[in-house]
Amino acid sequence: MPTLAEIEADARACVACPLASGRTTVVFSAGNPTSPLMFVGEAPGHDEDLQGEPFVGRSGKLLDRLIGEELGLDRTGFYICNVVKCRPPGNRDPLPGEVEACRHYLEAQVSLVAPRVIVTLGNFAVRALLGTTETVTRLRGKSYPYANTVVVPTFHPSYALRGGGVVVAEMRADLVRAKRLLTAARP
Ligand code: URA
Repeated sequence: MPTLAEIEADARACVACPLASGRTTVVFSAGNPTSPLMFVGEAPGHDEDLQGEPFVGRSGKLLDRLIGEELGLDRTGFYICNVVKCRPPGNRDPLPGEVEACRHYLEAQVSLVAPRVIVTLGNFAVRALLGTTETVTRLRGKSYPYANTVVVPTFHPSYALRGGGVVVAEMRADLVRAKRLLTAARP
């Protein structure tokens, strides 16, 4: 099994899909790869592409605040990455071929970090992991077994920025669910 550093080095040199030609930086991950808690977003945006780190823009600031308030953690306490590691032009949604080309990096990250709980942010991440076409609106409020871990779907923080208090309250409830799963006794 390769190490996370080896997988990251492969990703940094990746030209498997057309997003490679438009990127400034490959945005592989941030945070703590030994944490039992992992967050998975969609794809880097403008700020992430420039800085090389996931969720550093406005939606990332909201996410960090909610995680701090509900779980008492900063980025030393969780691992965070995206389904797609390179920025789609103009922040469009990643195309199915781009998700497929990048999927093996995410799968390797899940196996090597081996988190106990994965919180998916938005439709793309939950669909990529659970292989469903359902919306996060329908899926959230429950947890789902996935590859020795459990997936807790929640909204993408950019949706919460647009949706306001109700969406933020639901995200908080989802983070509390993740916290309970993290602290529950293992069977
Ligand atoms: N949106 C995402 O899904 N990921 C990021 O890293 C930033 C914004």
